[in-house]
Amino acid sequence: MLFSPERTRWPGEGCRTVPLSGHVGFDSLPDQLVNKSVNHGFCFNILCVGETGLGKSTLMDTLFNTKFEGDPASHSQPGVQLKSNTYDLQESNVNLKLTIVSTVGFGDQINKEDSYKPIVEFIDAQFEAYLQEELKIKRVLHNYHDTRIHACLYFIAPTGHSLKSLDLVTMKKLDSKVNIIPIIAKSDAISKSELTKFKIKITSELVSNGVQIYQFPTDDESVAEINGTMNAHLPFAVIGSTEELKIGNKMMKARQYPWGTVQVENETHCDFVKLREMLIRVNMEDLREQTHTRHYELYRRCKLEEMGFKDTDPDSKPFSLQETYEAKRNEFLGELQKKEEAMRQMFVQRVKEKEAELKEAEKELHEKFDRLKKLHQDEKKKLEDKKKSLDDEVNAFKQRKTAAELLQSQAQQAGGSQTLKRDKERKN
Ligand code: GDP
Repeated sequence: MLFSPERTRWPGEGCRTVPLSGHVGFDSLPDQLVNKSVNHGFCFNILCVGETGLGKSTLMDTLFNTKFEGDPASHSQPGVQLKSNTYDLQESNVNLKLTIVSTVGFGDQINKEDSYKPIVEFIDAQFEAYLQEELKIKRVLHNYHDTRIHACLYFIAPTGHSLKSLDLVTMKKLDSKVNIIPIIAKSDAISKSELTKFKIKITSELVSNGVQIYQFPTDDESVAEINGTMNAHLPFAVIGSTEELKIGNKMMKARQYPWGTVQVENETHCDFVKLREMLIRVNMEDLREQTHTRHYELYRRCKLEEMGFKDTDPDSKPFSLQETYEAKRNEFLGELQKKEEAMRQMFVQRVKEKEAELKEAEKELHEKFDRLKKLHQDEKKKLEDKKKSLDDEVNAFKQRKTAAELLQSQAQQAGGSQTLKRDKERKN
């Protein structure tokens, strides 16, 4: 039979190549794929990181030949924030859902130590949203609005010196999460010879600090040469302008100065065309693919490993999802039991302590009661003694009073009889 497992393997894995004796039609598969993708539309997400006023918004307008909304950012932001806007663009019959995310307030604070954090958090949040969608039972990835960042344009100030520590720290924190394309912003502010030295300095600083920037791929023959050449031009020195000036008999995007005009799309003036070529016209798909296969894959792997999932167990046997789930569940239940036991022990201990405290208080109360009772008895006895002595005194007083009254009446009687005797004697 034709469809044995042996015959369905790919070339080079032992399957047999058979000639076709007529047109079958599967050569239309690439066209089918293209049609399907075109119908579905594409999405592309760019993150612009750089200090306020470095020309991020202007460059986006210049790159996409339009005016995206947005007021100039202020320099008085208390922290770094990310502003995201999504636009639907159409060119020929191709629809592009473009999201531009820009840092607001980057480099405006005195303490810039944590400036990279909101950017890392934003990138991770987009990965997390995609992962959550992937983990759903009912996934709708085909029309899911993918907000993962495909390219990060890192705007370097045209100082002509070296990279600021803020730039190095931020790029280092981002390089495993996103495709970084460093660009020297407002490069009309730097002379030609300074620019050459500045590019070399930046490249060597990136290498010595181990910052991985996006390399245009050279594995596809059709673009290997141009990409190889362009890699050597990094970081691109760009100029942005939406102003159109008449140069010769053509209208061109340019910036006009008292001393002359700089043309955005003139390759001897700046690398804008190289950036547009590399970012949009040659490598947009690779940037999307790298985001999915490299950066998102890393995020997903770390996240799943954190959750306890592995591909193989310690004996290199495939790890089943069910086993992992059960192991994790048992681990969780074990921990819950331990916590419950610890709480119970703590409760028992607290009850014992409270009991001892109450017993001590009760003992103290008893002692106090006994003390007061004794005091009361002593006091009562003293009062009784006092009462008895007072009673005795009263009785003695009464006796003395009665005796005195008796004496007084006897004296009065005796006095009366003597007066009568004297009156008698006088009459006689
Ligand atoms: P953002 O805060 O980074 O978005 O910067 P903007 O795009 O708002 O630009 C800030 C100012 O810089 C504006 O006045 C722009 O006209 C000017 N600007 C933008 N790009 C360039 C450039 O390439 N060269 C020069 N010299 N100025 C530029």
